[in-house]
Amino acid sequence: MICAVCGTESRQILFRPSAPEQAPDLDLRPGQPLRATMGRWLQQCPNCGYAAPDISEAHPAAAQAVAAANFRALLNEASHPPLARRFLAWALVLEETGALHAAAEATLQAAWTADDLGRPELARAFRLDAVALWRSGPPLDAEQTVRVVDALRRAEEWEDAANTARALLRENPPEAVAQVLALELRLIEARDAARHSVASALPPPARRPHVSHQGSVRRGEGLLGWLRRLFRR
Ligand SMILES: [Zn+2]
Repeated sequence: MICAVCGTESRQILFRPSAPEQAPDLDLRPGQPLRATMGRWLQQCPNCGYAAPDISEAHPAAAQAVAAANFRALLNEASHPPLARRFLAWALVLEETGALHAAAEATLQAAWTADDLGRPELARAFRLDAVALWRSGPPLDAEQTVRVVDALRRAEEWEDAANTARALLRENPPEAVAQVLALELRLIEARDAARHSVASALPPPARRPHVSHQGSVRRGEGLLGWLRRLFRR
């Protein structure tokens, strides 16, 4: 693989995601088996540190982002686990190209890697960074707002989480979104910052969607796609 930023050649694994079989978390972190493959979601150039799903491609602004002082500082940030740094590096590139919501997503993914390593203080900081990026971009849709609520709850920002959830409920969101928000509000009330599955928010007929008995899941779409459609309906 040739790095599109610096031209260095390196060996990289081509990642082909498999459809998740388990329901995602409330922040749409996919269920297993996809959940456990985060180490392969991004490639990273061993020379310049550019990180992306495919480092042979780069936005014209990527080289500038990679050369910036904050990017170089991030690569040397020894207190951050290497996998978290890779997602944050991709987030910085996305932020530089103006893709703030995608940068927020990559930053949330860095939080997931911190969760997996048992680093709650880092996960909390990354979640709050992700929320700030989401809020600095264009207006959020219902699905993104649910993820902001969940990030705030898991970062123990109870009041902000509850207010954000209630504000979206007042806008009469789709039923599935309302159900997830109702669960979020119960969890916030109970000061529960743990991870929970979307399956626990949805009513029984939709609780265990599967192609064999749930016609609403389209062929090849997978549970995540189905949920995304639910949220966007
Ligand atoms: Zn490079």
